[in-house]
Amino acid sequence: MPGGVPMAWMKGLYRTPPLYVARGEGASFLDVDGNRYLDFNVADLSMTMGFGPGPIVEAVSRQAAEGAHFLLPNEDAIAVSEELARRSGLPFWQFTLSASGANTEVIRLARFLTKREKILVFEGHYHGHLDETLVERDGERAAPGLLGLPAHAGAATLIVPFNDLEAVDAALKGEEVALVMTEPALTNCNVVLPQAGFLEGLRDVTRRHGTLLCYDEAHTYQFAYGGLVRDWRLEADFHVLGKGLGTGISLGLYGMSSEIGKLAADHLDVDIGAPGLATGGTTYASALAAAAARAALFEVLTPEAYERARALGARLAEGLERVFDAHSLPWRAFRLGPRSGYCMTPELPKTYDQAKASLDSHLIDTRRVFMANRGIWDAIASAGPQASFAHGEADIDTYLAAADDFITELLGP
Ligand code: PMP
Repeated sequence: MPGGVPMAWMKGLYRTPPLYVARGEGASFLDVDGNRYLDFNVADLSMTMGFGPGPIVEAVSRQAAEGAHFLLPNEDAIAVSEELARRSGLPFWQFTLSASGANTEVIRLARFLTKREKILVFEGHYHGHLDETLVERDGERAAPGLLGLPAHAGAATLIVPFNDLEAVDAALKGEEVALVMTEPALTNCNVVLPQAGFLEGLRDVTRRHGTLLCYDEAHTYQFAYGGLVRDWRLEADFHVLGKGLGTGISLGLYGMSSEIGKLAADHLDVDIGAPGLATGGTTYASALAAAAARAALFEVLTPEAYERARALGARLAEGLERVFDAHSLPWRAFRLGPRSGYCMTPELPKTYDQAKASLDSHLIDTRRVFMANRGIWDAIASAGPQASFAHGEADIDTYLAAADDFITELLGP
């Protein structure tokens, strides 16, 4: 394993030697040396229901015993799709293995439907492992942001600043853009909240120019019941989910409007005959993933559970601001449902540049080691500490006490 890990991020994200994990329990995990960590990274929002949630363990164990996959639909897939339609308002749903896979298929459907090539994303975006979005702004063009991508990766991608409707309008005016893809609030560069009217304006401007709109809620579906799309009453053509909904089992999903769903049904990928849409994969929509998602939706991700997580997030944010104030630091704490985090500027960011200025990677690395030595696993650099469905108030208070100790030690006598 290059770097001693089975997947590069398991070492690269932390910039410390990797921990080797033995097992998890609720909101904590243990390493192979028996050290326990109270987890505020929750596998970068892949494990927000905690380790070993009872209803999911029960459903997945049963399904593993009865057959994990058939390459055929089952009742759990119907129940999940119907429930997601009820929560989000989009009537058609498809399963993939990850949010990356869902975003890939959304882009293909949008291109096919609009007969346009280009897509638009915002500065500070992250939408997963696909060539078109692993790009960043380089002057007027989008250039590969990582090694190993083709030079043309960004050829059909436009990048404009978040919260800038005029820039979106200017980019869409030529009527060449198939899709705008965004999170409702940017969560991969600390947090950038939408300014009042921005998302409503985004819907209007995309409609006016015949461009489809996708909300990628791989993260934010866990911030409110039905996602921020439901909580903020947003309208879109596509809705992407993933990560925590699978509670560690590979699962992504995307919802579609009825027009798009019908188009997808009319152009299914088939073995022989006319080519269909480039969607699907052999292990997508397994019975195991459907069982996990059904148990998650109906037994864990209830309105009450979201309320509880939101209250824990508020406790975390208020506590962090109290710590900053007590040390006379002109910092703020982010506040977005269960998500908080350190904003090292006096104002919360409205743009990606401001979000970058609110972070310091050396400080985050130092904090992680300090916290790990005190039994807390802190969030990765681009994310904040995250209250989860498995945390309790005492866990939040444990984090806050360690944050206070860290800043006390950092500032010195
Ligand atoms: N969309 C968003 C908003 C994400 O944050 C991520 C992962 N950080 C993805 C998509 C991709 O998810 P995955 O790596 O599980 O495919």
